[in-house]
Amino acid sequence: MYRITIDREACDGVFACLVRDDRFVEDGEGLASLEVDDAEAVTATFDDDRRESAEQAAAACPLDAIAVTDADGETETAAATEEVEP
Ligand code: SF4
Repeated sequence: MYRITIDREACDGVFACLVRDDRFVEDGEGLASLEVDDAEAVTATFDDDRRESAEQAAAACPLDAIAVTDADGETETAAATEEVEP
């Protein structure tokens, strides 16, 4: 289980991430968001085999705006959960 977090303060809309992992999308502000279950989020937890794609997106980001971290021990049971900013 792992968590992807986008630092929206650091993101500058370069979109190198989009071509590495299609969960990254351009939102209405011209910055990167995560698309999870047809909603946009800046952080989400996943339990799948796509961590490598997320890490490639993080490595490709010239502004280091993407973090991929272990999320083991978190209590979510869904395959993906989202936290949408207000
Ligand atoms: S590559 Fe980094 S700076 Fe570019 S859109 Fe993605 S998160 Fe933002």
